[in-house]
Amino acid sequence: MEISNVNVFDLKEKYGTPLYIFDAAHIKNIMKLYKDNFKSNQFETEILYASKAFNVKEMIRLVKDNGLSLDCVSVGELYTALSVGFDPKKVYFHGNNKTYDDLLYIINNNVGTIVVDNLDELKCLSDILNNLKKSVNIIIRLNVGVEAHTHKFIVTAHVDSKFGVIYNSNDFKEMLDIINNNKYINFMGFHSHIGSQIFDLACFKSALEKLIGYCKDFKEELVLNIGGGYGVHYTNEDKPIPFDIVSKTLIETCENLLKENNVKIKKLAIEPGRSIVAEAGYTLYTIGYTKKTPNKEYYFIDGGMTDNIRPALYGAKYDCDIVGKENLVKDHTVTIAGKCCESGDLIIENYKLPEAKQGDLLITYTTGAYGYSMSSNYNKALTPAVVFVDNGKSKLAVKRQTLEELIEREL
Ligand SMILES: *Cc1c(COP(=O)(O)O)cnc(C)c1O
Repeated sequence: MEISNVNVFDLKEKYGTPLYIFDAAHIKNIMKLYKDNFKSNQFETEILYASKAFNVKEMIRLVKDNGLSLDCVSVGELYTALSVGFDPKKVYFHGNNKTYDDLLYIINNNVGTIVVDNLDELKCLSDILNNLKKSVNIIIRLNVGVEAHTHKFIVTAHVDSKFGVIYNSNDFKEMLDIINNNKYINFMGFHSHIGSQIFDLACFKSALEKLIGYCKDFKEELVLNIGGGYGVHYTNEDKPIPFDIVSKTLIETCENLLKENNVKIKKLAIEPGRSIVAEAGYTLYTIGYTKKTPNKEYYFIDGGMTDNIRPALYGAKYDCDIVGKENLVKDHTVTIAGKCCESGDLIIENYKLPEAKQGDLLITYTTGAYGYSMSSNYNKALTPAVVFVDNGKSKLAVKRQTLEELIEREL
């Protein structure tokens, strides 16, 4: 088995397991798909990589080299980006509870746009700007009452979200007052992010309809950022829309709505995270012991919920193979269990695989998003190494954590 022309057994020899493997060529292709197709001759466009999906220096370098902008949700993500020279002007900073210190750090580091989530935040921001006598661009995160998740989406008065404000609510009106009375705040437009792993683009139309309707109340042309959430292929249950089609559809939908409403906007932005990295990521494990119980057969791996929490957290499904045995008869129904002291530490349940023996390599697919970024040291597991492969070459991006590093901060 090869990934971007690099042999997987060689990767195991060189870097050990568990190992996160990222196909850089694949990531670059997807970025290009978005860039080539998410454009319009009626308004500017901007593609931000939502870095919470996978934020390490080597990934940020790829984003930078491929000309995308960046979405950060924490000072840690921003710090990582700045450490590789990412242009802060191309950063949008999110979060429902940015502290005073966070805002200070963001402003002092010249972040391009702050996505203001609520009234209290805007008050805090306004005070800081008055003190510093410094200007920033902001967009307001709106709760547009559209909530989407995978195959379902709901358009309701979903009023209780922790994210965003409701258009024309009292809080919103007060926010406009603050903006109008503070010359340091450049109000640019609106943001909405309606969910993740979405396969039905109609929900973005619903959200855009709302946002474009609101634009009518403003004289200036606004920036609209419609978030991310474009679905990817984990297993055959998932039927993602190719990202060039996603891009074109969103642009067309927006252009049509602008025409219908006789409105102009300055810019349309999207924030894909998962769809840029998920399918480019693999996790490689070594199988240790196997075990049969009356109703189950287990293959135990040398990682688990510490490197991939998604199955335990929300029942996420994955495909996998035993490396070098992809084409053997899959006549064992097995459960892939990690080595943590939790019965729920199962990566894949009741899955057809060939017979495995100790020392075989197991590879899980589509682990590039929310895998490494959600990893933990539970049970004092060491965080695995991350390697990037590209056209026959491999490059270590994150070193495997050592035992010394594990207790480095403990006094
Ligand atoms: C998580 C998130 C994204 C990215 O979502 P994906 O499902 O990874 O594409 C974009 N914008 C905001 C505000 C988010 O919270």
